[in-house]
Amino acid sequence: MQLVFATNNLNKLKEVQVLIPSYVKLLSLKDIGCFEDVPETQTTIEGNAKQKAEYIKTHYGLDCFADDTGLEVEALNNEPGVYSARYAGAQRNADDNMNLLLKNLKEKTNRNAQFKTVIALHLNGELKTFTGICKGEITMEESGEKGFGYDPIFIPNGHKQTFAEMELTLKNSIGHRGKAVNKLVSVLNDMNVK
Ligand code: IMP
Repeated sequence: MQLVFATNNLNKLKEVQVLIPSYVKLLSLKDIGCFEDVPETQTTIEGNAKQKAEYIKTHYGLDCFADDTGLEVEALNNEPGVYSARYAGAQRNADDNMNLLLKNLKEKTNRNAQFKTVIALHLNGELKTFTGICKGEITMEESGEKGFGYDPIFIPNGHKQTFAEMELTLKNSIGHRGKAVNKLVSVLNDMNVK
């Protein structure tokens, strides 16, 4: 079977690709000739994931899934959450976002945070969602070169390294996106879609 993964984020693609069974051929937005920005204007992570999947189904008529992710920080009333990409402004710059987050947490002793991923799957006329959460802590400074986004300042519970210091396989096995993708894969397996 073929499924479009509605993302332009190569890091997400890399993480997801290795978890998807070989009977699924993943198509990128480029593969289907989608070069416009896929809208994500909702006020929740789930809403954005659904909006992206519905957009591809409506405009390209293809089965697909979309991922939307946010970092929820306890001491900041769960911000930046759905606004994680634009936390420090429309330039969507990872370093700016991390710097602002570290600045806003400077006086806080509670560093608890969680990544939340919602994947929306549009398949056979039905829309399903899968959520993955990874709890952890925000560090005092950036550490590590791997991964992307907020990875250099997030240490998952039970670990000593930031996501940016971990191999992809470890991040995938304990991370938010890995958990959501595994739920999606088990539904595909149960449906016996090939
Ligand atoms: P979106 O899901 O692409 O809208 O991502 C929202 C924001 O969270 C962006 O700033 C991403 O860089 C960041 N982000 C998404 N997934 C991850 C992740 O797995 N690790 C770290 N940051 C992430």
